[in-house]
Parts: sequence; structure tokens; C-alpha cells
Amino acid sequence: MALSVQNLYKTFEDQPLLKGVSFQVEQGETVCLLGPSGSGKSTILRIVAGLETPDSGRILWENQDLTGAPAYRRRFGLMFQDYALFPHRSVAENIAFGLRMQNLPRGEVGRQVSRALERVNLAGFGGRRVTDLSGGEQQRVALARALAPNPRLLMLDEPLAALDRTLREALSEELRRILHQAGIPAIYVTHDQEEAFAIGDRLILLHEGQVAQTGVPADVYGRPASPWVARFLGLGNLVEGRVVSSAPLRVETALGTFEPGCPPGSFAAGTPVSLLLRPVRAAVLGAVKDGQPNRIQGTVEDAFFHGDSFRVRLRLDQDRVFAFDLPEAVTPGASVALQLDRDQIICLPAAEPAEIAAPPRSAGAAA
Ligand code: ADP
Ligand code: MG
Repeated sequence: MALSVQNLYKTFEDQPLLKGVSFQVEQGETVCLLGPSGSGKSTILRIVAGLETPDSGRILWENQDLTGAPAYRRRFGLMFQDYALFPHRSVAENIAFGLRMQNLPRGEVGRQVSRALERVNLAGFGGRRVTDLSGGEQQRVALARALAPNPRLLMLDEPLAALDRTLREALSEELRRILHQAGIPAIYVTHDQEEAFAIGDRLILLHEGQVAQTGVPADVYGRPASPWVARFLGLGNLVEGRVVSSAPLRVETALGTFEPGCPPGSFAAGTPVSLLLRPVRAAVLGAVKDGQPNRIQGTVEDAFFHGDSFRVRLRLDQDRVFAFDLPEAVTPGASVALQLDRDQIICLPAAEPAEIAAPPRSAGAAA
């Protein structure tokens, strides 16, 4: 394991921000640190970089404790959101800036600048003025500047946030490729789950000062650990219920009875849960629901053609409008019943992660 972040606590002005954050980054891996704005992502990066001191917790690199080490000794690269290139200097001069600190001979600086430009697919751009480049090219120059001193860990703080959506999508694919080619472990911070899915080998979801879930994107999407994670990923079809039978697993909700495709016995009878009804693979039954499990009924609010299916907003009761992708067209205003695929019904613990404990007194406080 390359980087180990252990049990970080940080409070600003009596407001606890980080309440025991731990995660690891393996060699060559790109992890995405994903969380809403204000969840402490930038603070974590600054602590890892050595620009901020945690109240307690440790930063280890290959098992060596760096918690008290000054930033320059860590050899971690950090690329900020507003990457602040010097507008009146050439691309090469901008990239050389980070190398100057290392007191390298002039020829060596030139070689490393060229190599960094090749890494971001901008070979030959060294003589251009930064102001003559497109937004996407400037972004890559900033990345080249961060890569040039050969950091052993690269951290990127919302590097695409200032760009428009189309450019962001194109660049996120390119960033993923560049990071993998560079082979440097990276922490990529974003609040945008699509960007995180596109770039991360692994996701770390931050919620209320703790890690809510980690995993490869497909697993996190397929098995969100909590209703909060599901909602944050844009999976909004959630209904609260109670387990009435453990094996087979059966859940009673305001929308009817469901038999989710979870292993039997994974929830005890009586447990409060939330069901996530995935919007895919439901069959349209017609107008009436007949008490069978995994069926819901509602009124079509809105329906439109969406690629190979029809995206439908279905009003289920006063509080709930759920979205489904249906194989056939339905008419707004119509009352329809759906048979849900049991494997598309996910049972989640209703309660959010347990109460946050106070920072352990014994934890080695940073210097
Ligand atoms: P994120 O990057 O996820 O948006 P940040 O790490 O920037 O979150 O910060 C989260 C919150 O922590 C901020 O909204 C702010 O209230 C507080 N905070 C961060 N840095 C400081 C600081 N240096 N002084 C006081 N409060 C801070
Ligand atoms: Mg931030």
C-alpha cells in the first residue's frame, strides 16, 4: 500500500469537519474522493499534502509516518481547481516553475519539461503562450506542471470544475488515461459522481466527516451502503419499510410488500430498512395492482423516449414520484402497475452510520 490515511479528525471554529477519516491508496491506483461541497475534501488533501495539520490522525507513506513532515519532504504533487498558470509566460516556463525549487541543472529542467509535455499529449507546445491555449489545453499544462517534479503521489482538487460539461466529459477520459500512463497513484477530488465514475479505479464517499463507502464504481453503484449514498448517486427511488420476514426476506412499506433480491437472513425481522427500487427492468402490468409482492401502482406524470427505453415519472402517492425506464410507452395521466424485478430491489439499513464518536484521546496528535 502506498498511502495510508488513518483516523483524521479536524475541527474548525468548534465545527467538527473530519470525524475519523481513514482510507488507503495503492500503488498506481486512481481513487476518487467524492462528497458534497463542504464535506471536507479539500481539507483532507491539504492535510495529506502537509499544508494543514490534523487535530489527530496519521499520514503514512509506505509505512513511514509523515504526519509531522513538512510539505516539501513528502514529494506529493497537488493540482488546485483554479490552477493559476502564469498568463504571460510560455507553457515551458510555467512547467519549469515547479522544477526550479529542486535546483536542477538547466539542461535537466528542459528534459523534464519535455517529458511532462509528452505525458499530457502536448509535445511541442512548450514555446506557446498560455493565453493562446484552449481551456482544456491549459488544464493539461497545469497537470504537466504537477507531474514534472515526479511526485510519488498526485492529488487533484476538482480540476475540471471550472469547465463546461462537454469539455469536462472529454477531459475526464483523457485525464484517466494520462494518470494511468503516468503510473503515479492519485487522489482525485470531485463532487460530481459522473466524473468520479469516469476517472476513479475506486471511489471513497465522504459524508458527515466520515467515509460512507469505498469500492469500485460498479459495486458502489450496484450496492450503495446507505440511503444517503443512494441519493447522492442520483438513485432517488427510496421507500422506508420494516422487515416482516427474514427468510425469505419480506419488507412491508407504504407502497406495498416487497421481496428484495438480497440474501435471506441478511436482515432480522423487525429491522427498519429502506428499499431502493432500481429504475430498470420493470414490466408494465396494466391498471390494477393485485397484492402480489414487488408490484407498485401509480399515475404517469411524465414520459419521454430515452434511447432504448421510455423514461417515466410515476406518482405513487402524495409524497413520492419515482422514475423508471420502461420498455414500452405509457400515456401521461394513465394509471399503471409495474412488476419490479426482485434483483432490482435493494434492501438498505435505514439508519445512517452509527453516532460519531469523539476523537480518541490516545490517538497520536500531530505536532
Ligand atoms: P470541500 O472541499 O469538500 O468543499 P472543504 O475542505 O473546503 O470542503 O471545507 C469544508 C468546510 O470546512 C468549509 O465549508 C469551512 O466551513 C470549513 N473550513 C475549511 N477550511 C477552513 C479554515 N482554514 N478555517 C475555517 N474553516 C475552514
Ligand atoms: Mg474543495
